[in-house]
Amino acid sequence: MIDLLKGLNFELLFEAAVDAMLLVDDKGAIIVANKPAQEMLGYTSEILCGLKVEALMPSRFRRSHHQHRETYTQNPEKRAMGSGRPLVVLRQDGKELQVNIGLSPIKNANQCYNLVTIYEAESLRQAEESFKTSEERLQLAKEAAGLGVFDFDSNQNVLHWDDKMRDLWGAESEESITHEKRFVTIIHPADQIARQEALEAAINPKGSGEYHANYRVINPNTHAQRWVSAIGRMHFEDGIAIRLVGVARDITEQKMLEKKSQEQRTEVELISQQMVAAHTASAIAHELNQPLAAISAYSEVALYAMQASTHYPDNLKHALEGCVAQANRAGRSLHELLNFLQKSDLVTEKFDLNEAIKEALNHVRGSGYLEFRPSIQLEKNLPKVLANRIQVQKILINLLTNALEAMRGATIKNSVIKVSVRTSAISNMAHVSLQDKGPGLDAETAKRIFDPFFTTKKTGIGMGLAISRALTEANGGELWLDPSTDIGATFHLTLPFAP
Ligand code: ADP
Repeated sequence: MIDLLKGLNFELLFEAAVDAMLLVDDKGAIIVANKPAQEMLGYTSEILCGLKVEALMPSRFRRSHHQHRETYTQNPEKRAMGSGRPLVVLRQDGKELQVNIGLSPIKNANQCYNLVTIYEAESLRQAEESFKTSEERLQLAKEAAGLGVFDFDSNQNVLHWDDKMRDLWGAESEESITHEKRFVTIIHPADQIARQEALEAAINPKGSGEYHANYRVINPNTHAQRWVSAIGRMHFEDGIAIRLVGVARDITEQKMLEKKSQEQRTEVELISQQMVAAHTASAIAHELNQPLAAISAYSEVALYAMQASTHYPDNLKHALEGCVAQANRAGRSLHELLNFLQKSDLVTEKFDLNEAIKEALNHVRGSGYLEFRPSIQLEKNLPKVLANRIQVQKILINLLTNALEAMRGATIKNSVIKVSVRTSAISNMAHVSLQDKGPGLDAETAKRIFDPFFTTKKTGIGMGLAISRALTEANGGELWLDPSTDIGATFHLTLPFAP
């Protein structure tokens, strides 16, 4: 191997190198520059040779390089390792290049040289430009999406907001914001609990750290109310939440549209409920007309017979039997009528009851019942049920609305509606229990709530529970009121699982 190296002269190796190399004497003057070095620096070999290395640098860097050179001339170990520090060199065309250099000292007789290898690094300007471009892109994306950025340092209890966030909250550009003083006080009182719960969920080290809250803010200067949707991620250090970074968006318009379409839906629902009530009422009236007329006639005969004699003759017995028979007939007709209403056009599908419950909760929340807090215990991996999805939605919404109206009527605020779904082992049915903390029902009312047109509300129609029970039975399930509840009311609903 050594013999082979002896055969190759230095110049040959120097020219064959693919890296840019300079041979520099101990005073820093360039003696030879190979082709890659000439190309990288944009100088011919004639111009480069004789130049001092410092002459290749922009003037603002010369002093520090000089100091640096002092260090490596005094420290032989550093020399062998090369400088390891990026430098800036000036190409002939005036462009600045950021480079890393490697230094290898060579001793020949009494002369000392340095072999300088130059590696091009990403230029400073390029890095700055790409940083600027990505900043601009981020800014454009933020503007297009209407996003504000927040960064909450929980150690310092300080919130950093960008201009968009400050705008949303009506904060001055220089104002320092603490979590309690400035931020929480602006949130609408009705949304503070929900937002606090979202924050606590994000702070929990056992959770996903995700933060998502929708709430209203009231601008302290203009008193204007806006809806905000905030999404963020909590950062933890040793299991302690230290920083929440996220984005927020003004969703006021979206909320207004939702409210409008909800109002329209409610209006349509009310009209269709009234139509159902009107149809049912006229059908019931039609069915009951004849038997009631007969009961009335028989009763008259019975009365006449009783007045005519002190003994109760056979015809009075007959008349009363007639009353009983006709009353039964009226009952049967009513039952048949309800059966007919329930069974027409039942289209069933397999669906996730847990999802249907979440949708129903969202629906009632969207209908303006914002003050309640549902406590949801949904059984994981619940098999799919087979039923008419729309009808089940209607039943759940009816039950939830009744519970909320009962609590509202008794001015119970921030109450819990407990919704639990469990599988009943005995009947192999999905079992939903809805429990509220309202005033509950007395025994007399409880007996009648499933009767058509029974209502205790001023503007009630009294068809909600009758229809809900009819729909539940049409779907193969049952709906009943729990007689044993001490506080509030508990309704149970069962539905069949899909085979
Ligand atoms: P409406 O809501 O039009 O009154 P419903 O058939 O839905 O008709 O309800 C009938 C009645 O049952 C109500 O007027 C109310 O008195 C009673 N009720 C229903 N749900 C509850 C509940 N969760 N708590 C107390 N009372 C209830």
